[in-house]
Amino acid sequence: MRTPRESERDSAFLDYYRCPSDVGAIGTLPGVSAEDGYFRFGGSIGFGRFAGGLPAAYATDNLTDVSAAATIIDGRAWLPFDLSQVATNLRRERYRRNGNDLLQKTTSGGIAQRLYYLLRPLMGVGVRKHLQKIRLRNWEKIPFPQWPVDRTVDSLMEGAMGIALAAQGGPIPFIWFWPDGAPACAMMTHDVEGQAGIDFCEALMDIDDSFAIKSAFQLIPEGHEETWQATAARLRRRGFEVNLHDLNHDGLLFADKNEFLVRARRINRYAREFGCDGFRSGVMYREQDWFSAFEFSYDMSVPNAAHLEPQRGGCCTVMPYFVGDILELPLTTVQDYTLFHILNDYSTALWERQIDLISRHHGLISIISHPDYLVGERERAVYLDLLRHLNERRARGLWIALPGEVNRWWRNRRQMTLVADGDTWRIEGPDADRARVAYASLTGERVTYSLSPPARTAASA
Ligand SMILES: [Zn+2]
Repeated sequence: MRTPRESERDSAFLDYYRCPSDVGAIGTLPGVSAEDGYFRFGGSIGFGRFAGGLPAAYATDNLTDVSAAATIIDGRAWLPFDLSQVATNLRRERYRRNGNDLLQKTTSGGIAQRLYYLLRPLMGVGVRKHLQKIRLRNWEKIPFPQWPVDRTVDSLMEGAMGIALAAQGGPIPFIWFWPDGAPACAMMTHDVEGQAGIDFCEALMDIDDSFAIKSAFQLIPEGHEETWQATAARLRRRGFEVNLHDLNHDGLLFADKNEFLVRARRINRYAREFGCDGFRSGVMYREQDWFSAFEFSYDMSVPNAAHLEPQRGGCCTVMPYFVGDILELPLTTVQDYTLFHILNDYSTALWERQIDLISRHHGLISIISHPDYLVGERERAVYLDLLRHLNERRARGLWIALPGEVNRWWRNRRQMTLVADGDTWRIEGPDADRARVAYASLTGERVTYSLSPPARTAASA
């Protein structure tokens, strides 16, 4: 049963920080435009309706900077745009995609896509790679979202926190993003594509276990009913997680709304029958506005910046977020197949760069590698380097978790509240013993976070 939930429209900031609602109330100034468009808010880009300028059609246009219009009235922060609306536009990819828009349209959901998937079994990897390279041409020229990691939503939240801090005149407590004060979170996932992948699962579990990393395997249900349970049991017995990977992986899940609804019912049935809480679509195809048809708990099908995916766009955040009742755990790093076969890169340099950018901003490092593509020795060596790198970061506090654990934490965090306790704050709610009170404060113009109360100044003592 679905339970009614509070409106998403006015809660994005509070959901993000879980700060006390009175200090975190952000108002929207009157006079916002009738049309959505790009604008600038200091160092970040927004997309939606805003006051004080003309909405731009493209992220590369000369954008109106509305940051000077942000103001404080009666001790409360007001923005010249609706932060929740803008955050939803970005996360749900409702902004106008520009750069290779025509290519994007002709290769996803259309006749070309159907043809490609019909012919795919007949093509060798060489032909597929060649076609993919043509399709992805000029990807590095796409101006928005930002490559290799986009934090637009997160930096808008920080900008809003800056105004709230100025309004408050002191630090604002909030519930830290990850349990036990971990600086960031990482999850390893493996999409199993074909028989070669299924055959390699055992060896891949050995590799992951040798680094004490448990991962999640996504298995295609339809057409594999006979063997699905046995494969899943082998994985689960060793403490690995199993989720659904698409329905039948024909690349057409979101091609037609009516057909999608029929397929979603079948996916929901498999999720119940196989006991799966999580899902990832084939080829990262997605239509977030249709997710309400799904009954599983979390999805992992939305890239952060999808320049190198067949369906372009991206959710512009490194944090989990809710799409109705579904928690989205976005893909925030490049896929192994893309790295090896499109970029022809057999190093961890790009992965490490992305991991560093996400870690510095306390986000979710989410990784896909395919057992099917790790069979080769050269690819496997790169994967081992990646695990080594993650373990080095774990020694410095990184929380490496299963998607199911991240889902549980993020859902519990949403139910936690900060309660004033004399001079200090405590957290109440499920899993509260693992939660930490954090403090946002202004260091010059910059918003900074800390896990201990900032030193009191003489004025506030
Ligand atoms: Zn797949």
